[in-house]
Amino acid sequence: MRLSRYFLPVLKENPAEAQIVSHRLMLRAGMIKQQAAGIYSWLPMGFKVLKNIERIVHEEQIRAGHIPLLMPTLQPADLWRESGRYDDYGQEMLRIKDRHERDMLYGPTNEEMITDIFRSHVSSYKDLPLTLYHIQWKFRDEVRPRFGVMRGREFLMKDGYNFDVDKPSALHAYNRHMVSYLRTYERMGLTAIPMRADSGPIGGDDTHEFLVLASTGESEVFYDDRVTALKLGDRAIDYDDRDQVAAVCKEFTTLYARTDETHDESVFAGVPEENRKVGRGIEVGQIFYFGTKYSEPMGATVQTAEGTQVPVEMGSHGIGVSRLLGAIIEASHDDKGIIWPEGVTPFHCGIVNLKQGDAEADAACDKIYAALTAVGLEPLYDDTNERAGGKFATMDLIGLPWRITVGPRGLKNGVVELTSRRTGESEELSPEAAVAKVV
Ligand code: ATP
Ligand code: MG
Ligand code: MG
Ligand code: MG
Repeated sequence: MRLSRYFLPVLKENPAEAQIVSHRLMLRAGMIKQQAAGIYSWLPMGFKVLKNIERIVHEEQIRAGHIPLLMPTLQPADLWRESGRYDDYGQEMLRIKDRHERDMLYGPTNEEMITDIFRSHVSSYKDLPLTLYHIQWKFRDEVRPRFGVMRGREFLMKDGYNFDVDKPSALHAYNRHMVSYLRTYERMGLTAIPMRADSGPIGGDDTHEFLVLASTGESEVFYDDRVTALKLGDRAIDYDDRDQVAAVCKEFTTLYARTDETHDESVFAGVPEENRKVGRGIEVGQIFYFGTKYSEPMGATVQTAEGTQVPVEMGSHGIGVSRLLGAIIEASHDDKGIIWPEGVTPFHCGIVNLKQGDAEADAACDKIYAALTAVGLEPLYDDTNERAGGKFATMDLIGLPWRITVGPRGLKNGVVELTSRRTGESEELSPEAAVAKVV
């Protein structure tokens, strides 16, 4: 993409409404525009990162054997009357009437609807296990929408639902989600710690939240510092292997890590004092096992191998896709701007032409652009007439992992400058060597 043809409305001034750094940087980098409290337009660069996050979520869910579908944002109230949640959910639910005076709602989550799909089409244990998920906009009329996309009213969530014949199988689905989530967050450059949590309005017995440590997080967290060093890495996972998946979960959930809702001082006291940490975290996901809480009232049953009818065992599992943009920026920025992890960056590399209109510099930039594009990378080429300082400031603000700076002086010696956004280190290389390093 050439910057002269793109739509990147960066702000020079700090927007007064933003209280935390991720919100400030998303506004300054021209990624989002607020349309109403907690409701945003996603401008091209924000939309690109959102799509990258979505892609990683899809890839890891499919790897775990989970199946994507798409349910609507609007739902009939009657489904929620069946589960009893229509009255319970309270003011966070946006309720709407259609022209026939039928009660509708903008879905805050989809347990009822997916249970309805399941009961319409599945009746035998032979069709299990089954996990269906979608990535769809949700609406929750939050009392205090704030911090930009971190607590929106309209927000993008991945929500998945497992259907299993018995509790051990449902707990395996729970574990599968935990491991797939760990990999998902790691690919985004994040350390998200599974913490014992409280089940809230979804209800159920077993639940973990995934928290990214950040001083601006809304949850208070208590943990053994050693959990922050655990990494899944690229070890091979066989998602059908119950023992292996359970062992990974055990590895990540044995050290103390809890949110304030389940925190227990007496157990925490058993953690060696030098490892005992109290901090704040951003909830970027949550998994629940809730058994037959929805299948029973809604009549979602299956026939077992023995021929009896049982309500299907379920759980639900969510990732805050749009909130992740804020969480990633909170975890990865400096005083000049965003530092995108490679996995989610909107463009792989910036190209800065120090002297637009200089035939040699223009030709060298075009060549680098073509070389990067040829191997499937997406560069952002600042081909505008802005002065060098302004171009550097924009590149630092939008946080692409690499910048290649091209100017007539360097080209005389056959070199361009390659700069890493993360370390700030620069080196002079031939254009070919610079491209090779970025690839
Ligand atoms: P919170 O405690 O922050 O209100 P929640 O526990 O109500 O979140 P869940 O029902 O667990 O949310 O939804 C799954 C995920 O969706 C959350 O872990 C979070 O990452 C994301 N999420 C929830 N509410 C919002 C929101 N208002 N804006 C953006 N993301 C959200
Ligand atoms: Mg909430
Ligand atoms: Mg919560
Ligand atoms: Mg939650």
